Amino acid sequence: MNKKEVFEQVSYMEEQIGQLYQQLGDLKNHMSELLEENHRLSIENHHLRNRLDKDTEQNEATSGDTVDKDDASIGEGYDNLARLYEEGFHICNVHFGSPRQDEDCLFCLLFLNKTK
Ligand SMILES: [Zn+2]
Repeated sequence: MNKKEVFEQVSYMEEQIGQLYQQLGDLKNHMSELLEENHRLSIENHHLRNRLDKDTEQNEATSGDTVDKDDASIGEGYDNLARLYEEGFHICNVHFGSPRQDEDCLFCLLFLNKTK
């Protein structure tokens, strides 16, 4: 191996190390995005679970039968969904349960009107 070849090999390795370093940085960014998303979803899950528990309790307290669909329980279900929407979550079947990020959702609004 002559000097030129050695120099070329070293340059090549240097380049590869640079690329690996960049890939590592990208992976780190991606990982922190995933951690943030995970955290957000945990909070959302917690929120929805609380809501579900509360609704189940209410349903058991009022009717004792969750399948019962008289006018009162439909109105109550509508109120719950409307409240969930007001709290910033999707209630449409397209994005159900995910945060709305302060934007009105056409699907949700259509759904609310249809249910009302
Ligand atoms: Zn929606």
